[in-house]
Amino acid sequence: MDEISKNTNKKNIGQISKNNPGWKGKGEPNFKAIIFKLATTFKTNLLSGDLKLLINNLKSASTNISTFIFKKSQENFVCPCCSWSGPGFITTCNSKRVNYNSNCPNCDSRSRHRGLSLLLPIIFENKLLDLLFFAPEKILLKIMSEKLNLANVKTTDFYSSDVDYPGEDIQNLSFSDHSFNYILCNHVIEHVPHDDLAFKELSRILKPQGKAIITIPGDYHLNETVVFEQTDSNGHFRHYGLDVIKKMKTYFTEVETLDMHTLSSLDYGIRINDLAFICTK
Ligand SMILES: [Zn+2]
Repeated sequence: MDEISKNTNKKNIGQISKNNPGWKGKGEPNFKAIIFKLATTFKTNLLSGDLKLLINNLKSASTNISTFIFKKSQENFVCPCCSWSGPGFITTCNSKRVNYNSNCPNCDSRSRHRGLSLLLPIIFENKLLDLLFFAPEKILLKIMSEKLNLANVKTTDFYSSDVDYPGEDIQNLSFSDHSFNYILCNHVIEHVPHDDLAFKELSRILKPQGKAIITIPGDYHLNETVVFEQTDSNGHFRHYGLDVIKKMKTYFTEVETLDMHTLSSLDYGIRINDLAFICTK
């Protein structure tokens, strides 16, 4: 029996990688933890001269103090992935932006996971699935196996070995044409040099009428994708705008765009304009 067969037979809901977000939350931060993190990043930011990151770290620390110290007893936010409720999600930042209400303290879900936890049941209801999950996130696999009772899910990741199909390059996949009914691919495309090849490959391995559910970070109130000369600190080649839809339409017959924020009226911490692209072959 080859390695892939051994892996795929071990579990039928797809193996998971600890390297991807949505594994286990860090808990609600206390005052000491917030200040300690700020103090360590402050020194690094000063030494590197990255004032924008320094300011963003100050903003996220003050937001977390407000949320987890002053509003500690409130339960205004609910995580639809794990049912945790509390005063807010953990605010994080990088040099470009502050991500308010980002990480669930309990399950480490991000805005996209919480949005997808509402969207996937709508898409997958009463469907016989044959799904390939790129860079699998534990929280979403858990939802698919427990809440949706999905069985035939396979996982793949270029970097992690603890998946069903390790080492697959999304720009040049080893799978045959027409292999899967569904593909789930979150925050992967921005990490590859040739996104057009990735879309082409995703379409190729889908069965006719199959669907790829794709999320990619971007500013979707803007039209144009910003292409970086070098990858940014997150390993991203681009920051996407709405023009990515045109590129997707080169390889898919239909691209439905859904703002996952609109799926919930409760405060699930799903960002406005956090888009999911549902691409039909
Ligand atoms: Zn959660």
